[in-house]
Amino acid sequence: MSQLPYDAAQAIDADDVASLATGLCNIASDRDNEGAIAEHIARRLERSGIEVHLEEVVAGRPNVVARVPGTDGGLPPLVLNGHLDGAFHVDGWRRDALAGWVEGDRLYGGAVSDMKGGLASMVVAMETAARLGGTPRDLILQAVMHHDTVGLGTKYLLASEGPTEGYAICGEPSNLSIHVANGGAVKFSIAVKGRASHISRLDEGIDALASAVGVYSGVASMAFTHQAHPSLPDLPIVLVGVLQAGFAAGCTAPEATLLGDVRTVPGMDRHTVRADLRRIIDQHLSPDTTCELRITAAQKSFIGNADSPLVAALRTAHTRIRGAAPAVGSPMPGQAFVTDAADLAAIGLDSAVYGPGDWHYAPDEWVSITDLRDAAAIYLATAYELPHSP
Ligand SMILES: [Zn+2]
Repeated sequence: MSQLPYDAAQAIDADDVASLATGLCNIASDRDNEGAIAEHIARRLERSGIEVHLEEVVAGRPNVVARVPGTDGGLPPLVLNGHLDGAFHVDGWRRDALAGWVEGDRLYGGAVSDMKGGLASMVVAMETAARLGGTPRDLILQAVMHHDTVGLGTKYLLASEGPTEGYAICGEPSNLSIHVANGGAVKFSIAVKGRASHISRLDEGIDALASAVGVYSGVASMAFTHQAHPSLPDLPIVLVGVLQAGFAAGCTAPEATLLGDVRTVPGMDRHTVRADLRRIIDQHLSPDTTCELRITAAQKSFIGNADSPLVAALRTAHTRIRGAAPAVGSPMPGQAFVTDAADLAAIGLDSAVYGPGDWHYAPDEWVSITDLRDAAAIYLATAYELPHSP
């Protein structure tokens, strides 16, 4: 491999990546609200002379698609895929999450690790590729709306314009390890119905809360019908994260709702999970209460290949930039993340998950600025390290 991409990669300015990432953190882009951040990224790429378009999936909620044409026509492209929607749900931040800030090598900001930091690294990789006059293959940025479990933006984009061959890096936070598999997800709601009655007339009430607590216990310890998968040894797992019920301390709850999430292995889908849940609910629901079970979201697993050309190229690029080989695998917690790599791989792209940041549901979300810079350099160099024949 020539020194060219590594000289350019090493010249990427950490402050440039960090200031772009800070700018992205300062634009709210919760679910349903990706328009402003999409415009920001598109305008920046345009200023760098890069071919870019917005693809409005639904009104005000576009994907951003950019392309730096390759110099060696006919080589399959490398896709850099990241999601625009980024939420930070927890209280307790030391400072305003929408005004990102730097302390030493840490950049703090709302959604910086999932995944506005990774997006910034991808944008800078595109700009560096454009300054070099293009990498050997087309470099395509897919900055997508509505990842949120189902991967709506990526599904729409792949269906509308592909590509259907080549390579794809999904930049979800992997802490610069190469993840080659993650589980799918099936989310569900269980709405239990009872009857309200004042504490003075308990014999007239039907306690939906007590019934829901019984269902909760059953679901929390249930076993799902599945075949164990060697790449996903810690799955399936289930969590009920929400129980809402009742309106007064002295009244039986007329309704109770449980919201839960199953992280799945291949072979599990909305139908198998629904059948398993129905069986457990029927065992634990109190007499007199009724319930409605709904599947609210579903996404398939991503099963990649640790020996693929993409993983080899990423590993080489990472090792040259970082001076040590990356971890390759599918450990927890990444094993239980849901990523758009599932859709990228399903359409036929050699795919892996590789991005900066070590994400938690916690305040003061941060990424290493060194890692942001290195990710940009490694994304760029990977485009050169991939095979030089189609
Ligand atoms: Zn994410």
